[in-house]
Amino acid sequence: MHAQIISDKLLSHQLLQALPAAVYTCDNDGYIRLYNTAAAELWGRVPVIGKDKWCGSWKIFKTDGSPLPLHECPMAIALREGRKVEDAEIIVEKPNGERRFILPFPQPLYDDLGQRAGAINMLLDITDKKLSEKNTAWLAAIVHSSDDAIISKTLSGIITSWNPAAEKLFGYAAEEMIGQPIIRLMPPDRVNEETFIIDRLRKGELVDHFHTVRQTKNKGLINISLTISPIKDAKGNIIGASKIARDITRTKIEEDALRRSERYLHELTNAMSQLVWISNPEGRVQHFNERVANYVGAQKSPDGTWNWEGLIHPDDLPATQAQWAESVATKSNFVLEHRLKTKKEYRWHLSRIIPSEDEYGNITKWIGSATDIDDLKQISQRKDDFLSVASHELRTPITSIKAYSQLLLNSYKGSNDEFLKNALVKLEIQANKMTKLVNDFLKLSKIESGKLQLNKEVFCVNDLVKEIVEDTQLVAVNHKIIIEQSSRVNVTADRERIAQVITNFLNNAVKYSPGTDKVIVDITTAGNKITVSITDKGVGIKPEEHQKIFERFYRAKSNASIPFSGFGIGLYISAEIISRHQGEIGVRSEEGKGSTFYFTLPQAQ
Ligand code: ADP
Repeated sequence: MHAQIISDKLLSHQLLQALPAAVYTCDNDGYIRLYNTAAAELWGRVPVIGKDKWCGSWKIFKTDGSPLPLHECPMAIALREGRKVEDAEIIVEKPNGERRFILPFPQPLYDDLGQRAGAINMLLDITDKKLSEKNTAWLAAIVHSSDDAIISKTLSGIITSWNPAAEKLFGYAAEEMIGQPIIRLMPPDRVNEETFIIDRLRKGELVDHFHTVRQTKNKGLINISLTISPIKDAKGNIIGASKIARDITRTKIEEDALRRSERYLHELTNAMSQLVWISNPEGRVQHFNERVANYVGAQKSPDGTWNWEGLIHPDDLPATQAQWAESVATKSNFVLEHRLKTKKEYRWHLSRIIPSEDEYGNITKWIGSATDIDDLKQISQRKDDFLSVASHELRTPITSIKAYSQLLLNSYKGSNDEFLKNALVKLEIQANKMTKLVNDFLKLSKIESGKLQLNKEVFCVNDLVKEIVEDTQLVAVNHKIIIEQSSRVNVTADRERIAQVITNFLNNAVKYSPGTDKVIVDITTAGNKITVSITDKGVGIKPEEHQKIFERFYRAKSNASIPFSGFGIGLYISAEIISRHQGEIGVRSEEGKGSTFYFTLPQAQ
């Protein structure tokens, strides 16, 4: 056998190169003399022998990130002071910018005579270790500060870690639980859950948001949501499990309360005689109460919302759609009378829909109801028909009474019978009153049936006011009616109808201001609008009745103690007439001090 001989020099060279750690040497002057591949890799460059001093790195830094001059590097210190330097961690930057945490171990070298012959340095790359330490510290801090109980256990169910939130939730301290079986937390009737959980874990599966019940130290039961995931070792073997437990007792109580209140709501809406629905913010109906069974035409779409259009009478559908679209766009209440299709027939309903908003003012849903008003409508229709027929029937006899009273008055003009003459004048006055009343009723029924026609013409408002004031002044003997006006203005309107409004205002002003002596009529213009207002110093009206007195048959309660005659239709007719002229009508009034009724009209161009 031929024995192989390797020189010491060759051996040390091979040994140096084979080392996984970076190693290099410097001579007494600090010049690099020897280095291995690992060292060149760590520096990211090949040092120039006899030229690079102390360290082959491109740039070095202290651990706080500030630059470290080469002559202060651990190797330079070891050479200068002839000693081993330990624990002097540095950061090395490669030419490509990558930085590594390095722990150098420089120490002096001696020759055969024991003389200092430079120094040797070994560089340990501790970057990965440092990062993993940091990550572990972060993870530990997260687990420690989590509000959720985080527990780890072995596959045989023995607890290996227990965070402060677990202490708080279950009442056991970490020392009491680490090393204990997890089934200590399970109420007796749930112990078999552990087998199910372990089976899933062994298969590498996650148990996600598993709602269950656990037992605390003082034997109380709590509702929790569990998420359990397998823990694997570096080779991927499942060695245990981590458990995150969240107390959902409050959530559960809240959910139960919500479910209960939803059930009450449904029961309540089902008990109502109205059709009730809830729609999403975009106006699609999501829920109808059980009354929908009395109706036909609404159809459920595949997405669970309802197509309600088929429920509405075709003649009323366009108006319903238009108003609903406007309500959704402007987020305003919807109120409309329309016919809905019941199993037997179309019936009139009053639908009201109101938006429901969250705390930020966003519409979350719309709540609607439809009340069957068909019977009421029919009664009202019958009453309107009766009024119309009665007024028509009364017209002929009243006209004859009026004609005969005038004939008689003319015939007995020269008579000396004062009683007779007086009686005939009174007869005529009462016949006139009846004519006015019957005419009002006729107009009312025309308005109701939509037959009120306007014959528009251009006329001067000041002339019309003057005419009416003169006529009214003849009968209003206790009041002086004063006209205040600026310039003359023309309007395009139905002269007869506008005359009726002014007459109604004036008669009311006189009627509702007994004991006073003045009524003022004011004509003003602003922009292209003219305003006629009539002011009295009479009984006035309470603010809450200012709107209502324009409703049909409404008479103010404010002055009910004084028996003024009337039917409460004059202002209703006036409001209709003005609204058909695109004008405004209103009142400013204070109880006991008087009122100002006004209307506006667009000025003639
Ligand atoms: P009528 O006078 O026949 O009752 P109107 O429709 O003209 O009907 O008026 C409705 C109600 O408004 C009246 O009943 C009265 O209570 C109130 N009202 C109208 N004008 C005045 C006024 N000038 N002063 C006080 N109250 C008035």
